[in-house]
Amino acid sequence: MGLLKRPAIPRQEIVGTVAARGDKTDHQIGDRVGVGYLASSCRGTGGDDLCEWCKKDEGRFCPKKFVTFDSPYQGGRGGISEGGFVDRIRVYDDFAFKSK
Ligand SMILES: [Zn+2]
Repeated sequence: MGLLKRPAIPRQEIVGTVAARGDKTDHQIGDRVGVGYLASSCRGTGGDDLCEWCKKDEGRFCPKKFVTFDSPYQGGRGGISEGGFVDRIRVYDDFAFKSK
């Protein structure tokens, strides 16, 4: 992990193509998807233990939220989200929406 290199242009809403996928998603490699500013919350981890905000579908206030710009990735590989001008970004299934 580390700080994002500055200056930076966030471009926090993203449209792209699925390049890799996990086991628990309906998205297929090659699907065109959009991702909003919010790329994950405790809801996205698939657990039943949701915070009060996620229970109210207000994930933008979730203490475990992950956004597409300047957020550290959780788990194993490290790194930090760098917005929509990057080649690849990791997001949870619930936060990627099929696009035409
Ligand atoms: Zn939450």
